[in-house]
Amino acid sequence: MAINKFVAISLVSAVAVLGTACSVTAPQDSITVKPSKPKNIIMVVADGMGPAYTTAYRLYKNDPTTDEIEPTVLDQFLVGTARTYPASVSGYVTDSAASATALAAGVKTYNGAIGLDVDKNRVETVLQRAKKLGKRTGVAVTSQIVHATPASYIAHNESRRNYNQIADSFLDDRIDGKNIADVMLGGGWDYFIRDDRNLVAEFKDLGYQYADSYTELLALPSGKPTLGLFADMGLSKALDDSNPHRLSVLTESAIGHLENTNGFFLLVEASQVDWAGHANDIASAMGEMEDLEQTIKLLKNYVDMHPDTLVVLTADHSTGGLTIGADGDYRWSPEFIQNMKASVTVMSEQIIEQEDMALYAEDIFGFELNDEEKNHISGITSDMKPREREGVLKLLLDKRTNTGWTTSGHTGVDVEVYAFGTGAEAFAGNLNNTDIAKKIFSILGDVE
Ligand SMILES: [Zn+2]
Repeated sequence: MAINKFVAISLVSAVAVLGTACSVTAPQDSITVKPSKPKNIIMVVADGMGPAYTTAYRLYKNDPTTDEIEPTVLDQFLVGTARTYPASVSGYVTDSAASATALAAGVKTYNGAIGLDVDKNRVETVLQRAKKLGKRTGVAVTSQIVHATPASYIAHNESRRNYNQIADSFLDDRIDGKNIADVMLGGGWDYFIRDDRNLVAEFKDLGYQYADSYTELLALPSGKPTLGLFADMGLSKALDDSNPHRLSVLTESAIGHLENTNGFFLLVEASQVDWAGHANDIASAMGEMEDLEQTIKLLKNYVDMHPDTLVVLTADHSTGGLTIGADGDYRWSPEFIQNMKASVTVMSEQIIEQEDMALYAEDIFGFELNDEEKNHISGITSDMKPREREGVLKLLLDKRTNTGWTTSGHTGVDVEVYAFGTGAEAFAGNLNNTDIAKKIFSILGDVE
């Protein structure tokens, strides 16, 4: 399984290299000097992805048959770091709403604020500016599309928890008479199809095409306003989803609908790195990172073919206090989570239906349990809450891999910034997260 993954990746890299070579020699590619301003901007937020995650992922993907620890696709695009703290009323540690508002609007605000400053005034976002400038706009995320990060680019609300109000504003708010986002892909049936209002039907009336499965999405004609919702709330975890690379599928589809002569602004969010961090679930964290890397690989190929595009990737904060090597032991063993057939969440439901729980766990984990671990697993009972059963499984994996966690919440460390394509050099150095929005505003320019 692990070997197949490496083979698959080298094949993809080979294709990427060939793709680059073709775009240089292709006769239609007359752009020898890059334009100073990108036509298209793709902002990627990996929610919760502090530096421990990017390092852990590099080690998780390492080919142990070579001495070198191979770089990830992300590594080649590192340009700097960003400070994540919110407005002083919320202390030093940000939530995803305040940090997304900082990344989207260039304003430090209180934790929980969606597109508002500390005084609850609406602040313009880069996505909204792009819309005013006649570009197409979109979001492609693995959370519900009304979750903090995408909401902060599109909407304004005093609380990130007002999901229904935020969904309403996706439809009701207008810029020059038009809806703010042309493409919205992610989860969220619970908020769009309600007893009091069916926003899916209303979006269809406005001319949006709609898909509620990946297959349907891929069958839709390109270049049209599109709403795609694929789950009640967030999408399934990468480890459990019918397509473990669902974010790259959504991103590719979004680009297909957004491309036009005026250019586009797209927000992509790997939303569930953060959720895995909150759950202290190392296997899911690596699964989400793998989907992110696949998405960045796709965007690299896109920029090779469309050099008038800028891609910026950062995190909004780190989550969980992830530690590579815990409790004074200088060992980290990610090889034990490379072959997981399902997440510990799914396992916690299935395991109580098994005759032999240890045998089942060995099958899903992909390694043999020792006696202590078998004993540990035998402590799982159907009386326990699913969350407690999940805890038993996570503890086993943390001990096997020697992974540590310090919190079920966020931490205040600086996060990495990656950029490539036209204008990437502007994002180098140690920035404030608000600088990222300010730089994108200056690239976009003012409305005449
Ligand atoms: Zn979070």
